[in-house]
Amino acid sequence: MDQTTHNLPAPPRADGRASLKARRADNMDLMPHAPSVSLRRPLHTSRPHVVIVGGGFGGLYTARGLARTPVDVTVVDQHNYHVFRPMLYQVATGLLSADEIAAPIRSVLWKQKNTEVLMAEVIGVDTQHHLVQRQESDLPYDYLILATGAHYNYFGHDEWRTVAPGLHSVDDADLIRGKLLRAFEAAERLATYGQAEPDLLQELLTFILVGGGTAGVEMAGTIAEMARMALAHDFRRIDPRAARIVLFEAAPRILPGYPEQLAARAHQHLEYRGGGRPADRQPDGSVDGRRRGLAGGAMARRRHG
Ligand SMILES: Cc1cc2nc3c(=O)[nH]c(=O)nc-3n(C[C@H](O)[C@H](O)[C@H](O)COP(=O)(O)OP(=O)(O)OC[C@H]3O[C@@H](n4cnc5c(N)ncnc54)[C@H](O)[C@@H]3O)c2cc1C
Repeated sequence: MDQTTHNLPAPPRADGRASLKARRADNMDLMPHAPSVSLRRPLHTSRPHVVIVGGGFGGLYTARGLARTPVDVTVVDQHNYHVFRPMLYQVATGLLSADEIAAPIRSVLWKQKNTEVLMAEVIGVDTQHHLVQRQESDLPYDYLILATGAHYNYFGHDEWRTVAPGLHSVDDADLIRGKLLRAFEAAERLATYGQAEPDLLQELLTFILVGGGTAGVEMAGTIAEMARMALAHDFRRIDPRAARIVLFEAAPRILPGYPEQLAARAHQHLEYRGGGRPADRQPDGSVDGRRRGLAGGAMARRRHG
């Protein structure tokens, strides 16, 4: 075999996969000095081993705090990335993409020599034997920190979970964004096929939020931003700015946990973002000669007409 033939990539196998020999040869061509796979350092030394379950704010800050201490730290998370949750609303409404609010936990901690990261779901803890239980094997610890976050509270209405998913992860944000965008798409489709009954459009473009705490208020504000700004000029037949966003709160005001003055400011801000003063809305929904599917948005403690 002459040199020219030797450098050609091996032909693919009938099953479409390259042979091991061929792959090895390909890899060597691409990475002539590729290191062989070996452990860079022992996983655990004789120092105390701190296991942190969860690479959220709690877990990451704890790991950082242990950077210059004589311990070995293992951060275990079911995902290999950290999510900046305060910006999940923007992902759920398409204003940001998921990679703008997520960062690999390894990259965040790579300078920290006493820390390693494992991607694994923790399924239990054996406190008697100091073991964190994972699907594959148990992980021993001397000190354990559980920072696995919180769950949404449906206040006795767990049956709402299926129709109104919580917003805790990038997957949740994707799901919610899909629901929101599909509503606008469905309205545009109906309008395109001449089936734009105003009531039906109003139904499609009415977004109901239950709970005027921080999550409900922020979500309402971000949906308004999405409808009034991000999507404003994307559709030909409907005007997304006409979407109605309704926020329900059982307490006498939104943000019951916050000072009254702040809550009043937030309420004002939501109404402003939600479509301007009620007087700006036309009874027939028409704006600048274009037909709106429905009246301008309203966000309030109770539904406005
Ligand atoms: C939409 C939204 C907006 C928010 N906005 C704000 C805000 O503006 N200001 C503010 O201060 N706070 C805000 N918060 C709250 C803030 O994000 C939380 O208080 C904070 O994330 C809690 O940090 P944590 O580390 O306890 O949990 P999390 O950040 O939830 O992290 C928990 C980690 O544990 C991992 N994990 C869970 N179970 C397992 C398991 N069994 N095995 C392995 N890994 C596991 C998860 O993958 C996750 O990475 C917001 C929260 C949300 C959801």
